[in-house]
Amino acid sequence: MDSEPQIRILPDHVANKIAAGEVVDRPASVLKELIENALDAGATHISVEVSAGGKKAVIVSDNGHGMSRDNALLSIERHATSKIRDADDLERVNTLGFRGEALAAIAAVSRMTLTTRRTNALSGTEIVIVGGTIQDAREVGCPPGTTVAVRNLFFNVPARRKFLRSEQTEDAHLRQIFTTYAISHPRIGFRLIVDRKEVQRLPADATLQERLITLLGAEVFRCLKPVEHSGGGISITGFAGLPDLGRADRSEQYVFVNGRPASASVLSFAISEAYRTLLLKGRYATVYLFIDVDPAAVDVNVHPAKKEVRFRRANEVRDQVIAALRKTLEVSSVAIPNANLELPTVNTLSAPPTPTLQIEGLPPPRTFSYPRLPMGPVAPQSLPPQNVSGSASVAGASAPAGTGSPWSWCRVLGQVGGLFVVMETEDGLVLMDPHAAHERVLYEKYMNERQTGKVVSQGLLTPETVELLPRQAERVRENLALLREMGFGLSEFGRDTFLVDAMPACLGAVSPRDLLIEAAAELDQAGVRGGSERLVEERVAQAACKAAVKARDRLRIEEIEQLVVDLSRTAMPYTCPHGRPTVIFMGYEELHRKFGRT
Ligand code: ADP
Ligand code: MG
Repeated sequence: MDSEPQIRILPDHVANKIAAGEVVDRPASVLKELIENALDAGATHISVEVSAGGKKAVIVSDNGHGMSRDNALLSIERHATSKIRDADDLERVNTLGFRGEALAAIAAVSRMTLTTRRTNALSGTEIVIVGGTIQDAREVGCPPGTTVAVRNLFFNVPARRKFLRSEQTEDAHLRQIFTTYAISHPRIGFRLIVDRKEVQRLPADATLQERLITLLGAEVFRCLKPVEHSGGGISITGFAGLPDLGRADRSEQYVFVNGRPASASVLSFAISEAYRTLLLKGRYATVYLFIDVDPAAVDVNVHPAKKEVRFRRANEVRDQVIAALRKTLEVSSVAIPNANLELPTVNTLSAPPTPTLQIEGLPPPRTFSYPRLPMGPVAPQSLPPQNVSGSASVAGASAPAGTGSPWSWCRVLGQVGGLFVVMETEDGLVLMDPHAAHERVLYEKYMNERQTGKVVSQGLLTPETVELLPRQAERVRENLALLREMGFGLSEFGRDTFLVDAMPACLGAVSPRDLLIEAAAELDQAGVRGGSERLVEERVAQAACKAAVKARDRLRIEEIEQLVVDLSRTAMPYTCPHGRPTVIFMGYEELHRKFGRT
């Protein structure tokens, strides 16, 4: 008996079901496609209604140009699109959709009702499709525009339906999609109804700033800095969150490339890199970034759902994004961080910790004047220091408008926990981690010397030999020239051993061994992840400063005072180069409120 399997062409309705798997994997992807269609149709108002996490229904209504009866019938055919004609058009698509697959795919796996009317037509068309088969197509009275209602998603693909998550989870994904387009299109009015309750109403004709304020609230918005940058043929605008807005995941990173929501690993990398010295490991920045590049320099056609983009010159994009964010964050040197950061808990049962840092000659506390800070263009108004200091004080603080300096005077009162410096200012209480502060000050001094090309090197009285792990030695050998430029007097001393005879002078007294070991470990990590020479340098500098600070276990009160002054002059005073906060601020208003003295 002949048992050779017979090859058959799949009927369309089967092929559509398979294709649906690429475009539609959950209610949120249905929503994405429907919103994109509404935007492409020139809608100015879009209303979204979902129920039961979108499993019951996802309904999108728009006031766009609508479709004639013939076009409506065509629109649910596979590869039916009005947006491109041939392959050449792919090079210059300026609509969000272009594959002509979404409606066919969604129709194949749901009960869909498409109701549409051209603006000038007397009546509209309603088409009912169940599992890809047209059940009914008739003339109806309806407002101009289009409504697509998708019910019982995957009713005929039980295997997929099973994979849908809880209503709550699906709801979260739906909201994320809604928010994404609400941000990318602030001029469009949006409404979101979840399980019959209106949860968002976003007025049309908003600016990005107004839209973000409506979505996030004014308090969160205050912690965003405007981004404005262009270079290398790339323009980058939007908003970037101060370190306080750091989150446990990337869910508040919205990036749009040429107006299209986009992700690309190079973008995530660039954002993390820009914030690396501002956020702790495992924390992610909040950003809303609009990147505009020549359409020919980016490929949006790599992912079935068009989620990922690929850049022709990815490194250029990475460097520009990093530059844009750093520039933005540096201007805001006025803001004193604080706040939602927890203070280390002091265990009152055990003995007080032995000081790891001695402040000599502490009492009597004396006041010293605090330098006026250089003012950034937006910082003083939008970010008075009180207003970023913790959830509590945000509410009621009235900022001394117009002054760029956090305090005009400062008094060192003492030390707690054997480490933290307690200070009084006219606006409130300040706790400073002198190690973190010192690291930031040293780091910027070192990088400054490096950038102006004159790292001062200090010869050692007695050169030291340092033996490294083989991998670290390898990295040091690769970067020998760079390390020498950075002020290290280094030479190979056989196998994995190096002779150190000079060190960067700005770091002060520190063991060459500790310093080289820290730097080598950092180089090892940088080497694995790749990155430009500048990034490698920064890592070496961070490691060096960490070692230098660790070596100091004693500071005189004058040095503490100098540290406060120096810190205020850094570009990024909020955190040490590894992302730990340098100071925590608590305003008097907050203190009064906490003591019930309102
Ligand atoms: P694509 O968006 O890739 O063209 P779709 O399957 O999403 O493919 O849509 C097919 C076609 O149906 C679109 O090209 C458009 O002409 C029409 N269409 C879809 N949704 C709407 C809408 N909301 N308003 C007007 N026309 C629409
Ligand atoms: Mg589409």
